[in-house]
Amino acid sequence: MNQTMTTDAIRVMNRDEALAEAFRCLMCWDAPCTRACPTTIDVPGFIKQIAYDDLIGSARTILDANILGASCARVCPTEVLCSGACVLNDLHERPIDIGRLQAYATLDVVFGGTELFEPTPVTGGSVGIIGAGPAGLACAAELTRLGHRVTVYDASDEPGGLNTHGVATYKMDRATSLAEVEFIESLGVEIRPSTAVGTDITVDELIATHDAVFVGVGLDGVPPLGLVGEDLPGVQDALEFIDEVRRGNADLTGERVAVIGGGNTAIDAVTQAAMVGAERVYLVYRRGRNEMRAYPHDIERALTHGVEFVHWSAPKRFEGYGSVSSLVCERTEYQGGKDGSLRLVTIEGTEFSLPVTRVMRATGQAKHVGFLNQLPGVETDPGGRVIVDGGFRTTNPKMWAGGDCVNGGKEVVNAVAHGRDAARDIDRELRSGAAGK
Ligand SMILES: Cc1cc2nc3c(=O)[nH]c(=O)nc-3n(C[C@H](O)[C@H](O)[C@H](O)COP(=O)(O)OP(=O)(O)OC[C@H]3O[C@@H](n4cnc5c(N)ncnc54)[C@H](O)[C@@H]3O)c2cc1C
Repeated sequence: MNQTMTTDAIRVMNRDEALAEAFRCLMCWDAPCTRACPTTIDVPGFIKQIAYDDLIGSARTILDANILGASCARVCPTEVLCSGACVLNDLHERPIDIGRLQAYATLDVVFGGTELFEPTPVTGGSVGIIGAGPAGLACAAELTRLGHRVTVYDASDEPGGLNTHGVATYKMDRATSLAEVEFIESLGVEIRPSTAVGTDITVDELIATHDAVFVGVGLDGVPPLGLVGEDLPGVQDALEFIDEVRRGNADLTGERVAVIGGGNTAIDAVTQAAMVGAERVYLVYRRGRNEMRAYPHDIERALTHGVEFVHWSAPKRFEGYGSVSSLVCERTEYQGGKDGSLRLVTIEGTEFSLPVTRVMRATGQAKHVGFLNQLPGVETDPGGRVIVDGGFRTTNPKMWAGGDCVNGGKEVVNAVAHGRDAARDIDRELRSGAAGK
């Protein structure tokens, strides 16, 4: 895949643009941009290599630290990470467009087939990885580069995790994610799609087959709210809808859509709904704008697509004959308790209805509780997150974990950092001969 063949959601810079942008970089010695990156990519280093026209070197600098550097270039909230930390902000100048420079630098290596890494001598260690999302793929790539044999098992028919199925199409399309997965496979990683561990292959079998196991199963779907009428056709999980959009199967022409929630999934779902033709799109959130967890730049994008924000409102029930036709809500407010604490409550007598043809839940993903309970000796915290030590090893000495199932849901770049660092810990352990015993 090269730049002309890709259906890339972003327009990758051309050489002139990249050089002009690279020469604007102040190459700060203390690199706040690098410190803001969970994978600590040497940002001034790779930008300097772009300036010297050393694209292969630049790609190596990025991919050594972050093997999913191409997707992170597209999906990372750079406004609050690397570019957000750029010193030019303090000088009231436009920060360096680090994401697009990173996309430029990695294009030929990740999507163009330019070889970068030398094959590593095989050590004989074998690692099984559960989940081909960013955490699992980063772990797999790092272990392969360290000389271990790696098999990644993924429940889905298409690997890539939420990069393939969940992030908004205006950040990265499915084809770009799948092309990046092919690049990871080209390093020597074996991926077995449509293979759910715990169903298609047992956990015991996996543990017996491999010297070490990495768990990168992410999070589950958005659970039901438990409201009357929720089983009506037209009420769905926002993640299912985004996957439909990504597969090109969503057309909401003429529909009236409400999305419940105030986080990044909700904001992606409303924008995507507007982009596939919805006539009116409401975002229903029980608190105010300042309390939304969605990023300000994503909120601005939703507003430019005509999304209507219905703040201080909580869903009460779904109504309709045959399919959902209205979402009944109640107004909310904070009430002070005697101890000085603030409680969010619904206000009696403030019911109102939004006429809708579709409602999506984006109120937070559940944990894979049933699956995690099948992992022998692996403990979770009260929030259902897998407990790991500083090397991402779980309470089972043969199993490591990372990504959303450990941090409860952050960004792709956090999952990549977990997977990479877990791989380094697994490598140390396998070389010492301890984990497989
Ligand atoms: C709607 C949405 C939009 C997002 N947008 C962004 C964004 O724009 N930018 C950003 O940086 N982050 C974004 N994120 C967050 C980001 O996608 C996640 O933090 C990241 O994907 C986590 O990676 P992971 O590998 O831990 O999990 P996942 O990406 O969820 O991957 C887990 C993988 O495990 C597999 N799996 C699960 N159970 C099993 C099993 N039993 N056996 C085998 N395989 C299994 C799944 O099929 C999946 O492929 C978004 C998240 C959501 C929900």
